[in-house]
Amino acid sequence: MSAPRAVVVGGGLAGLSAALTLVDGGAEVVLLEARPRLGGATWSFQRNGLSFDNGQHVHMRCCTAYRRFLRRIGSAQDAPLRGRLEIPVLRPVPGAEPAVAWLRRDSLPAPLQLGRALTRYRHLRPADRARLGGAVLALLRLELTDASLDSETFGSFLARHGQRAAAVEALWDLIALPTLNLRAGEASLALAAKVFKTGLLTEPDAADLGWARVPLGRLHGDAAASALRLAGATVRRRSKVEAIPVGAGTGSERAVQGVFVGGELLAADAVVLAVPHEAAADLLPAGASVDPGVVAGLGRSPIIDVHVVYDRKVFDYPMAAALGSPVQYVFDTTESSGMPPEEGQCVAVSVSGADAEHGEAPARLVERYVAALAELFPRARTARVVDAVVTREHSATFRATPGTARLRPRPDSGIPGLYLAGAWTDTGWPATMEGAVRSGIAAGAMALRRFSRARGLLGGLADPGEDLSEEGVA
Ligand SMILES: Cc1cc2nc3c(=O)[nH]c(=O)nc-3n(C[C@H](O)[C@H](O)[C@H](O)COP(=O)(O)OP(=O)(O)OC[C@H]3O[C@@H](n4cnc5c(N)ncnc54)[C@H](O)[C@@H]3O)c2cc1C
Repeated sequence: MSAPRAVVVGGGLAGLSAALTLVDGGAEVVLLEARPRLGGATWSFQRNGLSFDNGQHVHMRCCTAYRRFLRRIGSAQDAPLRGRLEIPVLRPVPGAEPAVAWLRRDSLPAPLQLGRALTRYRHLRPADRARLGGAVLALLRLELTDASLDSETFGSFLARHGQRAAAVEALWDLIALPTLNLRAGEASLALAAKVFKTGLLTEPDAADLGWARVPLGRLHGDAAASALRLAGATVRRRSKVEAIPVGAGTGSERAVQGVFVGGELLAADAVVLAVPHEAAADLLPAGASVDPGVVAGLGRSPIIDVHVVYDRKVFDYPMAAALGSPVQYVFDTTESSGMPPEEGQCVAVSVSGADAEHGEAPARLVERYVAALAELFPRARTARVVDAVVTREHSATFRATPGTARLRPRPDSGIPGLYLAGAWTDTGWPATMEGAVRSGIAAGAMALRRFSRARGLLGGLADPGEDLSEEGVA
């Protein structure tokens, strides 16, 4: 008896995770990716002999599915956790060294692990520091299953709990922006609560950060392609799926038949559609339990990165955050760029929720961010800028505003054999690498169940012992 065939549409982290789950579970897998490369929203390019990523990507210790994915594709050593959470937060001071305060966890149990750092957090007035505890306690009391959390912004919740604008800017947005890709004032309380409770309020080490020391294209796309090939899956790049035909009739007769690619039908017993929400809206067959209009309603939130190559080292931190500056976060990317450290330093400035910046000319952005880096790092004032390049992702994530929870579909599309994956689907997480991987595992596991290959046969990424019910696997 031949193995059931599954087609996965989309080679981002969701599609790669679905494909690995399926092939490890015994299915015959064909993964179709429209672009010439895998990795989706995580990619790299070469310029003047150095590698640049489309945007700095960071994960946390609590991103367990993503970290398991890295292990499965043999990349874990290339995106290590960087020790205890420790972020220098810099505020420029005219004519002087910037003021630095550290967000550094210690060994106290959660939620006290940042307590000592916050009592000394000089970017907040003592009165604002004293008010932090009330908001933390209120966050702790929230139930993530409470649907009403998605009808309010995080900002209004913070205001109700005594957080003034200065505290939102100097602390809460510092975490909201990189995780939700929106400021607290616009972000859904539901997703903010998920981030804060999972990352900071439950386990003391959950928010320890990790990021790649190789180009993202190698970390994800290339490594996953090898892992899939080794496992026996077929990967077809430059293969844009045009349509997903379903059977005529009702009930099980309406099952998915496969996909049209290059004008030809590629037959399949199950299809995992793991494309961004705009593309999914175009491809979903009539009758899917996802309203294409609703999918488009998820909107988009941009991220830009300004990459600067200096002729010398301009700062010593692996990464830093900034306040009162156009810079939000800045990373030392010398290692992943491939630049020998004795030749200079590569840095990436990451700007989330970049609605204003996204439409600006690259030259203006470079000028502004090079000047901002000089304000933050005195050595950058005399260093020579050897090269600079801007990467802009207009649709980096969906817009995590209130009301989005009900728009995010579960993996079951309502059409037998067709499953949905992607960071935008109902994972409980914001649009992150962790959410993408979880969605792929959930969709892949559901397809395997269709093949009557229950729990015990779920291999690789899907851990039968783990409760992923929130992600729609149960
Ligand atoms: C600049 C930037 C910075 C980010 N920073 C972080 C971060 O620090 N931490 C974090 O966790 N997350 C971050 N993210 C978010 C994270 O990258 C995404 O949530 C995740 O990679 C999305 O994966 P996905 O598989 O759901 O979708 P995608 O990666 O978008 O993959 C979808 C794939 O489907 C393909 N496709 C589309 N249509 C078709 C078709 N018709 N046929 C075949 N293939 C098709 C596309 O080409 C694409 O490869 C960032 C994103 C960006 C852009």
